[in-house]
Amino acid sequence: MYLILFGAPGVGKGTQAKILSSTLDLKHISTGDILRTEIASGSDFGIKAKALMDKGELVPDELIADVIRLAINDALNYNGFILDGFPRTVDQAKLLEKIVKELKIPAPALVILKGEDDIIVRRLSKRRQCANCGMIVNLSDLAHKEICPTCKAVDKFIVRKDDKEEVIINRLKVYRAETRPVVAYLEDKLKTFRIDALQPVAVVTQNIMQALK
Ligand SMILES: [Zn+2]
Repeated sequence: MYLILFGAPGVGKGTQAKILSSTLDLKHISTGDILRTEIASGSDFGIKAKALMDKGELVPDELIADVIRLAINDALNYNGFILDGFPRTVDQAKLLEKIVKELKIPAPALVILKGEDDIIVRRLSKRRQCANCGMIVNLSDLAHKEICPTCKAVDKFIVRKDDKEEVIINRLKVYRAETRPVVAYLEDKLKTFRIDALQPVAVVTQNIMQALK
């Protein structure tokens, strides 16, 4: 099974990708993870990518293409792949089509995790980090809203920079603007499933599996 997973920040895309990849034995290909690993390992690609990112520039498609091709090729050792964070542009989508054709892989399915912006903002704005142990929690999941469930510290929760409301709103705006053309391009060609992502995690997984049957 070959999946491309889309979802706004805060809808649980990473969580679903992890569950699906282990349940279905799919290779989880996350461009974010690949970049971090390559940079940490000091590979040629990592060094080039880091130099660009340090200047605030995007890593160009030609560079990304090679690592994605390798990762997809490796997915042949699994039951398929789940792409997370790629393709991000229409050019990258075309590149993916090319790789899929070259490797004679069946056309992937597009899974879009949906969530309304205002609900995502409300949800993410309840995220806190424990200043004592670093654990990230959501206040709505806690019975005792001032006690860290991991280290039991009291009143140590802080709001991370990424979870400030204006930052969340901006990230959503960027995501929508970036994603719209890619989804429009892909949904004409691929089987596309839209899943309500603001349900409990297990329900979302179940609905995705049901849709893919
Ligand atoms: Zn803690």
